[in-house]
Amino acid sequence: MNPAADFLPFALPDVGDEEAEAVAAAVRSGWLTSGGLARQFEQDFAEYVGARYAVAVNSATAGLHLALEAVGIQAGDEVLVPTWTFTATAEVVRYLGATPVLVDVDPVTLNIDLAAAEASITPATRAIMPVHFSGLPVPREELRAFAERHDLRVVEDAAHAFPVKSAGRWIGSGDSDAVVFSFYATKTMTTGEGGMLFTESAEIADRARTMRLHGINRDVFDRYQSTKPSWHYEVVAPGYKYNLTDPAAAMGLVQLRRARAMWERRTEIAERYLEAFSDLPVELPPRAPAGDEHAWHLFVIRLPEGADRDGFIQRMAELGVGTSVHFIPLHLQPVWRDLGKLRPEQFPVASREFDRVVSLPIFSSMTDLQVERVVDTVAASLRSGE
Ligand SMILES: *Cc1c(COP(=O)(O)O)cnc(C)c1O
Repeated sequence: MNPAADFLPFALPDVGDEEAEAVAAAVRSGWLTSGGLARQFEQDFAEYVGARYAVAVNSATAGLHLALEAVGIQAGDEVLVPTWTFTATAEVVRYLGATPVLVDVDPVTLNIDLAAAEASITPATRAIMPVHFSGLPVPREELRAFAERHDLRVVEDAAHAFPVKSAGRWIGSGDSDAVVFSFYATKTMTTGEGGMLFTESAEIADRARTMRLHGINRDVFDRYQSTKPSWHYEVVAPGYKYNLTDPAAAMGLVQLRRARAMWERRTEIAERYLEAFSDLPVELPPRAPAGDEHAWHLFVIRLPEGADRDGFIQRMAELGVGTSVHFIPLHLQPVWRDLGKLRPEQFPVASREFDRVVSLPIFSSMTDLQVERVVDTVAASLRSGE
């Protein structure tokens, strides 16, 4: 047997014939850039999460950049960002010449620690970018009160957090200035590459739409639909090129319809892991508190302190199971470490927990057999590391 053929990857997208046919139909229509399907995707999504405006973009990174730009972040400003995230959350702050101020995380949830955030506030602080790590929502009310107390704009990096509710509302709607989802290939739903920005503010939505397409006051589709001469447009700002294409939106429309069923499958897998690992010497991820839901984009276990995490990952791989690490905290990455002259001791929780975390496969197309294989392989890899 070819061992590579039997390898269970850490993550795979859950796409099939329905997505393939929708994309093929979009291609056959001849409209390859942003058009009616991208519009439809925005409308259906806004309705799904109960948000007033949805702006489709070609990545969450683009959406986060547009959101910060639209709320007026500029050079000299400071933006609070958890150190426990992907570099995209911090890099978009830098795009605008502002400074990401990294903040330590809560030891249980690995979400931003608002007490640590409070201690990092200066007169230049303008915004906070909470990340719902692994799909576990940052408490809504605490976040809202914190932002209000310090007069901060809020842009939620919700790349892990679709499709779930927090405090009775879908993530995507609520009090924040903007919320951004990712449709990267391995996220909880996918368009290959893509993202969506939600806001309740007409001003933010308008600005994001304009900046999404070169700072042009009407998008290409409008130019072909409206009664004004089709060649006429005005450039009102030096914008970006962040629009989502119709073939990508076609995939997204199918994935959106399937999103809750895919979430139910991930929840089933998470519950199986929580039960199966309850007797092992590992720390398990917390369930969502009452009233909230966990998107289970990631299932992150923590090995005992002092355990050989890298050796564990190696043994898992040798036994045919892919794993990963989320995240290498940003304060350990050269660019952010050097920019802020940061030391690991300034982030005691993230620095300590980083050495223990391992992300296990949890994608909706996993079979029961594959889930059981992960269960057995985790136990075997722990035993052989003793
Ligand atoms: C994946 C991810 C992003 C970036 O999403 P893209 O759609 O690839 O730009 C941002 N933040 C977090 C936390 C992510 O995991």
